[in-house]
Amino acid sequence: RKPIVALVGRPNVGKSTLFNRLAGEPLAIVDDTPGTTRDRLMAEAEWNGRYFFIVDTGGIDPSTGGKEALSVGSADYIQQIRQQAELAIREADVVLFLTDAITGVTPADQEVAQILRRNQKIIEGKPHPPVLLVVNKADNQTFRSGAAEFYELGIGEPYPISALHGTGTGDLLDDLVAAF
Ligand code: GDP
Ligand code: MG
Repeated sequence: RKPIVALVGRPNVGKSTLFNRLAGEPLAIVDDTPGTTRDRLMAEAEWNGRYFFIVDTGGIDPSTGGKEALSVGSADYIQQIRQQAELAIREADVVLFLTDAITGVTPADQEVAQILRRNQKIIEGKPHPPVLLVVNKADNQTFRSGAAEFYELGIGEPYPISALHGTGTGDLLDDLVAAF
């Protein structure tokens, strides 16, 4: 089967923007599952002849379905981020963990990083599924250099990209399809 790539990260880091950039035809709305992250959006994508499914785990985005906005740092907000990350680790073959170069590392990013690391399994000596750390909104050289700050999340090498302008996504996708 085609590999599944999940986009995770707190609201407003650019998951939907990257999804729209990578997605071909939208395939399906993954409907509400009670008690879990809601309204996941899936599409087929392709890079260098490698096909995969990309999933925007957008349940915590107030913009994607008219759900009430959750205030940053509230118990519900943290809970939704937790569920989104746990679900992605269970279902995905590779996880793209998005962060934001403009804001820098936030407590919610630390929370997501911790959940991802804790829920990875070790298969043949390697953490599974692999997580690639994306530093989005790195629209210029200053932000691209500053992305090194994100090493502190303990997820490995940060990939600075601009989902808006499309820069950096080639290197990211090369390593993404190599991780399948
Ligand atoms: P999501 O909540 O993670 O799905 O984030 P969105 O994709 O909805 O993006 C949130 C905001 O960030 C929007 O205003 C986007 O236009 C903006 N954004 C997304 N990617 C970039 C980027 O690469 N650079 C900049 N400057 N803004 C971006
Ligand atoms: Mg979104």
